[in-house]
Amino acid sequence: MNKKEFLTIEEIAEGFRSQDFTPSSILDYFFNNINQNRKINAYISTYEDDAVLMAEKFDKLFKEGNELDILSGIPISLKDIFLVKDKLCTCGSKMLSNYISNYDSTVKKKLTEKGAIILGKTNMDEFAMGSSTETSFFGPTLNPWDLDRVPGGSSGGSAASVAGKLAPASIGTDTGGSIRQPASFCGVVGLKPTYGRVSRYGMIAFASSLDQAGPLTLSVNDSAILLDAVSGFDERDTTSLKLPPTNCYESLKKNDFSPNDYVIGIPYNLLEEGLDPEVKNNFNILVEKLKSSGFRIEEVSLPNSKYAVAIYYIIAPSEASSNLSRYDGIRYGLSNDSDVDSLDDFYVMNRSEGFGEEVKRRIMLGTYALSSGYYDAYYLKAVKVKKMIEDDFGKAFEKVDCILSPTSPELPFKLGEKKDNPLSMYLSDILTIPANLAQLPSISIPFNVSSSNLPIGAQLTGDKLCEESLLKISSLIEKEVDFKITI
Ligand code: GLN
Repeated sequence: MNKKEFLTIEEIAEGFRSQDFTPSSILDYFFNNINQNRKINAYISTYEDDAVLMAEKFDKLFKEGNELDILSGIPISLKDIFLVKDKLCTCGSKMLSNYISNYDSTVKKKLTEKGAIILGKTNMDEFAMGSSTETSFFGPTLNPWDLDRVPGGSSGGSAASVAGKLAPASIGTDTGGSIRQPASFCGVVGLKPTYGRVSRYGMIAFASSLDQAGPLTLSVNDSAILLDAVSGFDERDTTSLKLPPTNCYESLKKNDFSPNDYVIGIPYNLLEEGLDPEVKNNFNILVEKLKSSGFRIEEVSLPNSKYAVAIYYIIAPSEASSNLSRYDGIRYGLSNDSDVDSLDDFYVMNRSEGFGEEVKRRIMLGTYALSSGYYDAYYLKAVKVKKMIEDDFGKAFEKVDCILSPTSPELPFKLGEKKDNPLSMYLSDILTIPANLAQLPSISIPFNVSSSNLPIGAQLTGDKLCEESLLKISSLIEKEVDFKITI
């Protein structure tokens, strides 16, 4: 095996079938990389012993020539927000630093039922709040492209694990951009499916009406493979859509689609200000390239998306303030009862010790927005504007198949650069948040590097439940740009 190569799920699966390599040898390759790159801090925990046993089981099954699911024996990393029975699940927080899950999340269960081997749990911003993975109690993750820079967030550990050859693929979560923005910062593919496509059962809640799990991978085909594996109705999640799992990989493999079949919309009104000049130039070059390859390009207007960040920072903290009330030291969380005289003191002590700065800020914002007298002015108004944003997309999709923009307005920034400026951190998600508010599927695909060799991602957003055409268009763009990770 050429150790310089990035191996996709498809390539590994192919190698198992041609007996070029075994699940054990692949596992060994990834654990070697993980152990040699601990400084990247992509993982909070790793499961080497369990994984080795699973891989040996699959070695035997492949050797016997059994026909197995494409994910059989494939190592995958999981964001530390998904419960895995009997394992630590920290959500990047001191509050849950010794919390052991007593059941499996649906995402984990579906993956392992198909034979995937969980490598471990990846680092993340505390409770998925952040855009840089710097708010983790376990220290920041470093961007494998440049160790002085952030990998994006909150699924920064997942993105870094894929870009750093510490996993061939990962599953993260996206509430306002946390799959797509780190995918863009690390030069990998990141897909946030339609809200409700993937079960949230056993996935620790941040903002329940926006949270959605999805894959971070090296290719669009791999993204389809993982979406097919983890999607589908789950009676344990009341917001799960009553639909069967997707079947996108098969459709992609048919190869019966071309750029001429699609119209791509560009929301130029959102791209006028605030873009890094390199991001803007490269994006414009991409658009020209896509035009000449046969896509039709049209301007679309999303007039209300300019309010998306403001709306998001009312809705997400409001839901978070409610979801995080369970970490009171009695039901969940740190439970230190020394030196307290009353129950109130107990709550205050555990919550002030257990949560980091950013989480406290969000809880305060949310509690304020929901408080009596302010609820109508903030929360209700935000919900109305959310609907307007959704309607704008509905209109746009009457004339285009998907909407293209850069994923992030900026290149991966330096560690610490935005730490003391929450507002500038919040603006990192200006282009990703609208898709969460409108519940739409949205993907980031790497398409070029900057002059300083940092990756740049393009975001494509599709209409509800249109993952299949979104992935087809993405796959055509992937072929067109022929992006390679050059670390
Ligand atoms: N960066 C955004 C936030 O901090 C989005 C996070 C996410 O998608 N989980 O809320």
